[in-house]
Amino acid sequence: RLGIEEFKKRVFEEYERVKKHINIKEDLDNYIRNFPRPSPSVYGREGGSRVENVDISVVDKYQGVRNLPKYSNWLVNDVYEQKQEGYSAIMIRVPLGNLKPSQLDFIARISEDYGAGYVVMTQRQDVLLPWVRNEFLPAVFGELSENGFITDSVLPLITSCPGAYSCKLAITYPYNLAEAIAREVDSLEGIRINISGCPNSCGQHHIGDIGFSGNSLTNNDGTIPFYLMYIGGYPYEENAIIGNAVMKIPSKKVPLAVKRIIEIYKQNRTNGESFRDFVNRVGLDVFKRELSLFTKVGSKSEEPDIYRDWGQNRDFVIEAAKRGECAGSLLDIISISLFESLREVYEAEEYLQDGDYSIVVQKSFNAVVGCIKALLYLKGLELNDPNDILNNYNLIVNDGILPKEFNNIDSQVLDWLKNVNKIDHNKANYILDIASLFVKSVDKAFLRLTPELKIEALKNSDKDEEIG
Ligand code: SF4
Repeated sequence: RLGIEEFKKRVFEEYERVKKHINIKEDLDNYIRNFPRPSPSVYGREGGSRVENVDISVVDKYQGVRNLPKYSNWLVNDVYEQKQEGYSAIMIRVPLGNLKPSQLDFIARISEDYGAGYVVMTQRQDVLLPWVRNEFLPAVFGELSENGFITDSVLPLITSCPGAYSCKLAITYPYNLAEAIAREVDSLEGIRINISGCPNSCGQHHIGDIGFSGNSLTNNDGTIPFYLMYIGGYPYEENAIIGNAVMKIPSKKVPLAVKRIIEIYKQNRTNGESFRDFVNRVGLDVFKRELSLFTKVGSKSEEPDIYRDWGQNRDFVIEAAKRGECAGSLLDIISISLFESLREVYEAEEYLQDGDYSIVVQKSFNAVVGCIKALLYLKGLELNDPNDILNNYNLIVNDGILPKEFNNIDSQVLDWLKNVNKIDHNKANYILDIASLFVKSVDKAFLRLTPELKIEALKNSDKDEEIG
């Protein structure tokens, strides 16, 4: 919101202020001098396992695993040769990043027995066990197998936040979706899947080969748990890129959509082609075309199941709407609504270029409604139905926090929808401009939010700047 120049200005102002009180140079030197030295020299034992710790009879017992195809696959997929000759790092796959105390004890024990006495938690919710001498690899494989860490399920390969199980901001239950995907597909073919229960991206959906962020859609029959699907994210090396938002899919149809993506990839990839290279080669249209059947939303009598999320035996409700009294979570929820509105505007710009004018109108409508919804949270109203939201817009108009040009935006957006069939490029462009200006004005209004959670009214001097 501040913009980079203003942000830099504030950082340097703060730096000058702090410098008056503290000798920064000395402070930094101290910090660097005392910075913890990297593992393993401090936290582990360079050179790996203490050989005297290892029970050779156990090592001998597992030598037979060398003949198992599973062992060969494990060596290829989960074992990384270290630059120190004779040592490997082992990726212990952890389903959704959750470990029980007994499993933690087990990992601690094998890190002592075979590794350097420490492990590393990874960004894909797994545990890396470094400094394993290569002659102990069969024993580690055997022990991991016996403790349930070697599995045919794809669940440990999916990264997911807990969503509505424990997060106040969640919209959906991504753990349950991950399990449903694991029931539907036998192999991910190397495709990385990331799932978040809301747009906040704790499940890092932006950087998955396929990413999903939890969302919802309300129609006359109720509220449907949805996921916005991203394709083509990549977090590594110099070619890191955020995935493209491709389509919204009801939660219950996501596993079949994933299965279809894997089929498309398997049937059309060239020899050894990664999913990322495949997406770059074939583009996104093939996915939009092949998966469009999964985006359909039937009425409740036609498709009752899509009105429930995975693992829930009741109709869908947004758990975030049950938040407590915490102002922090209120602001997070407001941020999500604003973020969604911004996203609608960005997506509408793409649809405008593609000539899909009715979608531009719908997204412009959604963007405006999302902003009003965010403002109404400050009035203690948590509304989801667009009509309810628009009907309460007068509560905001009277506060004078937005330019008067937007006083009738509630009726304006309804007209947009009514006339959606008569929209040409110029009209769609005009509507999108208004929606975009409205989103920016609301975003700016939140900069005037006081600690009492009230937005200060616009001063006369602000008003020109707002629309100009
Ligand atoms: S804020 Fe959203 S993405 Fe983060 S843990 Fe909660 S539901 Fe998941």
